[in-house]
Amino acid sequence: MTAVMELAGRLAGSHDLSQEELAGLIRLRSRESAEFLKEQAAAQCRRYYHGKVFLRGLIEISSICRNDCLYCGIRKSNQAADRYRLDKEQILLCCRRGHALGYRTFVLQGGEDPWFNDDRMTDIVSAIRREFPDCAITLSLGERSRESYQRLFDAGADRYLLRHETASESHYHYLHPASMSFQNRMECLRHLRETGYQTGCGFMVGSPGQTAEHLARDLRFIKQFEPHMVGIGPFLSHKDTPFASQPGGSVELTLYLLSIIRLLLPRVLLPATTALGTASADGREEGLRCGANVVMPNLSPPDVREKYNLYDNKLCTGAEAAESLAVLKKRIGEAGFLVSMERGDSLIQTTAGNNMN
Ligand code: SAM
Repeated sequence: MTAVMELAGRLAGSHDLSQEELAGLIRLRSRESAEFLKEQAAAQCRRYYHGKVFLRGLIEISSICRNDCLYCGIRKSNQAADRYRLDKEQILLCCRRGHALGYRTFVLQGGEDPWFNDDRMTDIVSAIRREFPDCAITLSLGERSRESYQRLFDAGADRYLLRHETASESHYHYLHPASMSFQNRMECLRHLRETGYQTGCGFMVGSPGQTAEHLARDLRFIKQFEPHMVGIGPFLSHKDTPFASQPGGSVELTLYLLSIIRLLLPRVLLPATTALGTASADGREEGLRCGANVVMPNLSPPDVREKYNLYDNKLCTGAEAAESLAVLKKRIGEAGFLVSMERGDSLIQTTAGNNMN
């Protein structure tokens, strides 16, 4: 048996590997190991989720950002970016549209826009909570204070996505300006979990400077932190960023890592991301076959969708649009899965939570 197949077998059997072993599994990736991990990951996913794929309505509330992440198309230094911000009423309208379509999770994502201070944001979250008591509210608004996370949780938010981006401090500094802190990002994740959120972390695959060792460290971090959700997708360049000429991340490696994450954390909620769907025409379906079980179609007002431009050619039409449910259901059904419009809460216990309402 080859070394990589031995590592793959051990991962499938024990749901764990050391950092060095994970780095080996990545470095030695072969067609055979990818096929094996895909089958094993799909089996674990079926065991816990019975072929269900949860849909979440994604509302991109602002393309204004105070941060300057080197990879991101909405970074503050990008003068060419077309900026917008949704107000409370526009966000509620998106939720109403989504609810009527059957969505029971709303994901509010945006740049770190200071306009969405705690008073405004708690007001918005409370209004959604009041009007849609049967829905989960997920936030993805970047780094905030512990008090802020607590206020938003108390207002009714259930889940929070904050990709750690990379678990290696030096690599973090390669991807971010000096004003941003690795320590703070990691601390935010701890605060989110302690507050009682179903918490998601994650990273880009193939971000500039990333090595197999960095990825292995990301995987070890994920195993130890045991988040409820993990978001990964290929890095895709944006023409108006410092990384404009960097190659995009590999779809095959992203799929391989999805399978590994499913095996490390069999019950985790794992989206097949928009970036994966953008990088490859059947990327999303292939992601589901490799262990992903969440899809987040776009529920933002159609006229702003193109402005939330994190990378070039970002998908926002066709099956990517929340209103094209029939297309999406057909595609997911043809890939062998069952679309679920349930809230789809984490199977991993939270210490506290809004997930019982
Ligand atoms: N501001 C919030 C935050 O920092 O978590 C949420 C919005 S941020 C734009 C969402 C995610 O988009 C980031 O965590 C990053 O991983 C991803 N992203 C940004 N630029 C990207 C790129 N060029 N390619 C792929 N993913 C990208």
